[in-house]
Amino acid sequence: MSENENTQSQNIQKLSNQLRSIEEVLTPNYQRDKNGKITKAVVKPYYTKQFVTIVGLKTTTSRFLPVSHEGYSIETFIDKVELLGKTRAEFIARKMKGIERRAHMAMFREMIEDNSNDGKNKRKFTEIFEEKFGRVCYIPDQLCITCWNCSLFGGLRAGESAAFSRIRYFDTYSIEGAETCIAMDGSEEGMGIGNQVYEDLQKQRGAETYHQYEYVKVGTHFPFIVIIENPTLLDVAGYLKTVEIADNHGYGKYSVNHGKFSTQILAISSGFPKFSVLDMLGWGTGGIDKLITKFSNGSVKFETNKGDPVSLFGDDIVAVKNELVSEFKAYCDSLKDMGSK
Ligand SMILES: [Zn+2]
Repeated sequence: MSENENTQSQNIQKLSNQLRSIEEVLTPNYQRDKNGKITKAVVKPYYTKQFVTIVGLKTTTSRFLPVSHEGYSIETFIDKVELLGKTRAEFIARKMKGIERRAHMAMFREMIEDNSNDGKNKRKFTEIFEEKFGRVCYIPDQLCITCWNCSLFGGLRAGESAAFSRIRYFDTYSIEGAETCIAMDGSEEGMGIGNQVYEDLQKQRGAETYHQYEYVKVGTHFPFIVIIENPTLLDVAGYLKTVEIADNHGYGKYSVNHGKFSTQILAISSGFPKFSVLDMLGWGTGGIDKLITKFSNGSVKFETNKGDPVSLFGDDIVAVKNELVSEFKAYCDSLKDMGSK
């Protein structure tokens, strides 16, 4: 192990010491009948006030349509807001969370299938979910309230059980102003003209042969903050991978073709941020480099109720992501078979 890798693993260990274990948080609570047979499994309630903060910067690599309202037949207008002296594109927390929850589930299904591979065959996730959680988990209407995804994102089964979301998102906004980052009526580019979006419009479409839409241009920056309560190392490493999957899948309207991002994770900390998305917008106004430097030189501050937080930057963040496979294996090993002792 090189000196650099050695320091990295020490830093991850320091962070890990501040986090919760898989058994404390992610392994379901099992209820048993008097014969010891498992009758039910649900996510554990949480008690501690431990947090992990993940801070990053998303950059659009395709046209992006952040739209939270219903469409207006043949024209789509994106979410915009007046903020800190500029009209900015708005990327609401609920939309980001929805896409990332699905990406997290897609990753989870694939990993649990891979993990079942004994060299000869791989089992289907539906079969494994039945065995480990008593049922298959479908977003958003048939959540199992037992699995790793439900533990992180929360959920409700009417009349049965509920789990609070452990992950918190915040609304974010473009660093750039509308005049440079949004193609709209009256801007140099004008609105986009779509023909790949007809399937969404069939009900409203009459004689119109095209659809116009505003969009956020390529190269627009959105800083973001996500906070995970009662975090495990698996939650953190899994979140980092989830963001990559979501970036490739796309956020926003018409995400088959649009809404792709690249994301730079700027910091992971066991503390609470002493800054907000709004502060980051201000730092970015002087140039994206200035915002990034705030993190690379460690001048941003995090705090905890007791003691100094552990904060990771740069290569240490990549190293955290590399913990995903082994942590996931440990999670799978902690799961019991429903219906057996
Ligand atoms: Zn679930």
